[in-house]
Formats: sequence, structure tokens, C-alpha cells
Amino acid sequence: MDGLLIVISGFSGSGKGTILNRLLKDYDEYVFSVSMTTRAPREKEVNGKDYFFVTREEFEKAIKEDGFVEYAEYCGNYYGTPKAYVEEQLKNGKSVILDIEVQGAMQIKEKFPDALMVFVAPPSIDVLLQRLRARGTETEEVIQKRILRAKEEVERIDKYEYLVINDNLDKAVSELHQMAEAAKFSTKRLSKFMAKIKTELNNI
Ligand code: 5GP
Repeated sequence: MDGLLIVISGFSGSGKGTILNRLLKDYDEYVFSVSMTTRAPREKEVNGKDYFFVTREEFEKAIKEDGFVEYAEYCGNYYGTPKAYVEEQLKNGKSVILDIEVQGAMQIKEKFPDALMVFVAPPSIDVLLQRLRARGTETEEVIQKRILRAKEEVERIDKYEYLVINDNLDKAVSELHQMAEAAKFSTKRLSKFMAKIKTELNNI
């Protein structure tokens, strides 16, 4: 059976990156889909590991060539999930993690109805603001843009199936893993099996 597609969204500063790094370190079954972006690399970010950093022209070329499972514009930059890697890993039975924002997540929900949709929230907005500022990688102007985006995103949380409240890293990682385990047995995901059972039953 194909692997599980896992969509993780969350406000900028929710700590989802830290949760994902730990999940990927602790369990072999997960792989991370490295996105393509036109955003400039932050200090310490590595091309090919954190993102594939490209120009707008390169990104638009990939759109034309149907190279993405989803893509969106976020705070003035393009972000997209390259198609080939996701398809290959799902075929290999791996659980593929997409760390993407809400517009892209909605595209995935359309294309892959059995994807697991998880939203990561901070325990409070005070904590979110502290984390955003403590990171020190963004200017105040960028932080303000991201807060504005969070205000839009909060309206769409109910499109996700599960929420992880990130107040404790170990707990958050364990909860996310349990959600993925449960999702493997969802009726949506096992729809082919259910259709077979139904046909067999009706043929009696
Ligand atoms: P950042 O610039 O902080 O790395 O990411 C900004 C936002 O873009 C985050 O919410 C992140 O989840 C999202 N993002 C990263 N990669 C992708 C992608 O491939 N597609 C979409 N739609 N969003 C992405």
C-alpha cells in the first residue's frame, strides 16, 4: 500500500519545524519533502536540505512544466512541493511530510482526500510573538506580515482534522506520531479495500 501523506501547517513561529525535525530523527518511516522557494535563504539554511532556493523565473518554469503537487504565494514569495519526490516516496510506502501553509494545504486536500491534515498551534499568542522575535532571523516588517497571515490562517483551522498544541516538544512529537498511526486505518484511506468488500458482499 502507498505511504501516508501528512500535511503540517501552523503559524510562523508555532515551532512546527522543531517538532518535525524530532519526528524525522526518532522514526525511520517518515521522510520530509523539501520545498522549492523564491525566498532568500536565512543564515544556517542549506540549499537542498531546508529548501531548494530558486529564482522566480526558475519557479515559474517548474509551474509550467507541472512540476508541483501544490504551490502558493506567501508574504511575497513562491513556495511549492516538487511532485516527483512525493510520488516516489509514497510508492515506496514512506509517510511523506509536507510543511506547507494553508492555501497549499487546501490544494493537497482536494488532490489527496486521504492525506492527514494537522495544524500546529502555539499554547498562546504571547508565546508565538516571543518565538518569532527570539528567532532574530526576520525584520519587524516581515514579522508584522507573518502576524497578518496568521490572522487569515486562524480562520481556516477547522479545515484540518487534528490540532497539536505545542507546549511540550516530547508530547507534541508523540501526539503527531499517534495521529499518523491512526490515520493509516482511516476508512478514507482504506477506501479501495472497502469497495472490494462491498462488491464481494453484493455478489453473494
Ligand atoms: P518560511 O519562510 O518561514 O520557511 O515558510 C513560510 C511558510 O511557507 C510556512 O508556513 C511554511 O509552512 C510554508 N511553506 C513551506 N514550503 C511550502 C510549500 O512547498 N508549499 C506551500 N504552499 N507552503 C510552503
